[in-house]
Amino acid sequence: MKFCRIRLLVTVSLFLMLFFLSTFAAAEGEGGSADGKGTVSVKKKKHVKKSAAASAKKAKGAKKSAASAEKKGTEDGGDGGSAAKAVVKEIRYWSNPDYTRISIAVDQEARYEAHQIKQNPADPYPSRIYIDLEGARLAPGLKEVPIGDGFLRTVRAAQYRPDVVRVVLDLEKIKDYKIFPLSDPNRIIIDVKGERPLEFSRLTEQIQPPPAAAAEVKKPEPREEKPRPVAKLKPGKIRRIVVDPGHGGHDSGALGANGIKEKDVVLAIGLKLAEKLRDLGIDVVMTRSTDVFIPLEERTAIANKVNADLFVSVHANASLNRSASGIETYYLNLAKTEKAAQVAARENNTSLEKVSLLQAILFDLMANYKINDSAHLAEEVQKALYKKIHGSYPTAKNLGVKQGPFYVLVGATMPSILVESAFVSNEAEEARLKSPEYQERTADGILEGIKGYISSLK
Ligand SMILES: [Zn+2]
Repeated sequence: MKFCRIRLLVTVSLFLMLFFLSTFAAAEGEGGSADGKGTVSVKKKKHVKKSAAASAKKAKGAKKSAASAEKKGTEDGGDGGSAAKAVVKEIRYWSNPDYTRISIAVDQEARYEAHQIKQNPADPYPSRIYIDLEGARLAPGLKEVPIGDGFLRTVRAAQYRPDVVRVVLDLEKIKDYKIFPLSDPNRIIIDVKGERPLEFSRLTEQIQPPPAAAAEVKKPEPREEKPRPVAKLKPGKIRRIVVDPGHGGHDSGALGANGIKEKDVVLAIGLKLAEKLRDLGIDVVMTRSTDVFIPLEERTAIANKVNADLFVSVHANASLNRSASGIETYYLNLAKTEKAAQVAARENNTSLEKVSLLQAILFDLMANYKINDSAHLAEEVQKALYKKIHGSYPTAKNLGVKQGPFYVLVGATMPSILVESAFVSNEAEEARLKSPEYQERTADGILEGIKGYISSLK
């Protein structure tokens, strides 16, 4: 009896399923096209295949030679072809002595393609670069950002197709450009390089968020100091230093097992360092002096804007290996070891894969990086900081000066380094980092290093 009842249930269920399936397919057929039901599913498959083919084409495009005018993003998670999902929220720019940096903020990862169009005499428009963001829509109110800094005239954004946002950079005179995605928050960075006329002395920053975003975007407040006119420093003179405590706001940086947040300890060290430098009569500009988030690309822009002579980014290290400990100082270059690449990935808030992407274009981005001076500054700071810490903590390790693709150093026009003061992931070092005395000692060590660097210039 039981068996019969089950059989009946199965038969009824099957019938119902078939009924619903046929009704659903018919509705799709009517809505989709004049074709029959079968065609609908075939069309869908075709569409999927087309997307896959397009992705394959894109991947191939990314391998094109550097000479190619076409640059394609390889961000994961892009869903080109489907309904628009990502919202292009904000466009910002920073004019620097030899490049202009554009940041396109998107609320989630989006696939993009960049193309450059050279002007031809019949074309009324100037040369331009356009970036198509697929599966994206434009936030209301976001249209045109006037720039006029010698490299770019304007940046415009429009809904080019229902699911494609096109951002156009109207060019004045540029040499090259590089495009690179950053995460958390998601944004696409375009560094446009060129050579400015000498009279260019006023470095400007323009922010144009859409009205809705304006309320939630907390504009960082670098100390208001009059930028000096661009002039070569007299040898041995370091007058202004940017101290950059890493992370901040929603970005906590590395977390210790006992609750230490990197953003808090590096801010404490940075504030102490700034005070000590000011006592020496050095002008200090901090990228942040409170618990606020400042994107990586903006930190170097602040240093360039105030014509800083040195840029020192202060961080705390972390490793999956909890016994890892010690002090290391980085300057910008290709990572020589897997470990250095991992540190850069963590500090860039990106994956190792994206670090590789950055490494591939790094040499073009760091053409004007003061690599020798930065290496020299890193040596001085590492030596003095280790000496200072080792004096009180004989077990402290000297991990030495290293190189890595840290995005926060990309575009800095002055010697710039990133100090990994100690490991928050190591229990003993985490406990030390928490103490004001250790923070003081760390600030003293970095200060001694900077002093060593300055006196070596004389
Ligand atoms: Zn950090």
